[in-house]
Amino acid sequence: MSLSIRVGIGYDSHRFAEGHGVILGGVLIPAPVRCTGHSDADAVCHALTDAILGGAGVGDIGEMFPDTSAENAGRDSIEMLKLAVGRVRAAGWRPAQADITVIAETPKVGPHRPAIRERLAAALGVGPDDVMIKGKTNEGMGWIGRGEGVACIAVATLTRVDQG
Ligand code: MG
Repeated sequence: MSLSIRVGIGYDSHRFAEGHGVILGGVLIPAPVRCTGHSDADAVCHALTDAILGGAGVGDIGEMFPDTSAENAGRDSIEMLKLAVGRVRAAGWRPAQADITVIAETPKVGPHRPAIRERLAAALGVGPDDVMIKGKTNEGMGWIGRGEGVACIAVATLTRVDQG
């Protein structure tokens, strides 16, 4: 049976280094750290990109944007997310809704929720109300608890392009 709704999940993590802010969901959040990575290290965009690609069954972020490619060095992850939406749509699917959890001791994402929702919604082609982002600490446990980095889990729902 061919489903008319698909669900995808994505996960990402990035290590902190000394810096002046963390980019999450396309928004620069002031912090005494930054995220290290090949692109702009936006764990929210990366997890969400994997969620939509996974839901549509059209690959993953590592295959689409290899970290061995100079083209992807320092790359804007919102732009990568938009390209992934294009691949998803070409396969007959479109994002309908996403729910995202950021896990880090700091910084807090709550105060930046409206801005992040706006940026991700614009990239996905949905309304801000169709994107939710929540922050959680790891209760001081493990590498996240020690403030070594940030993790993110994203779930996305896709519907068929030819359905209203
Ligand atoms: Mg990443």
